[in-house]
Amino acid sequence: MRKRVKKIGILLAPVYAIIYEIGQLFGGECEVCLKKMRKPMPGFTIHHIKYKMGEKIHSDFSNRLDYYTYLLPIVIKSKNRFAFLCNACHHSLDGPRGLNRRKKENVLRLITMWKMGQRHKKT
Ligand SMILES: [Zn+2]
Repeated sequence: MRKRVKKIGILLAPVYAIIYEIGQLFGGECEVCLKKMRKPMPGFTIHHIKYKMGEKIHSDFSNRLDYYTYLLPIVIKSKNRFAFLCNACHHSLDGPRGLNRRKKENVLRLITMWKMGQRHKKT
């Protein structure tokens, strides 16, 4: 068991290094909650705002290192199609219960409902 954890760590270290490098293009913080990535570490990812035709996606690769190696020059070239996010914020968008899995009109209703509630909140 201990051996297996170590192996995963070795495999993922270069992945975190690339994500960190990408993060530096975005000021090194999550665009939503402003959580900082101060060093290569787990917990952050790059989010596609817009996909281009023919562009490969995560599932086209057998591991994260190949995916992020492919992605790095693309992000450098077209930064405005991406957002740097922490995993929690990314899950809110793309996770199994994320907003991208909901119908667009329901997301808008949800935000409207949330805004209405804000009026009664004393902060
Ligand atoms: Zn965040």
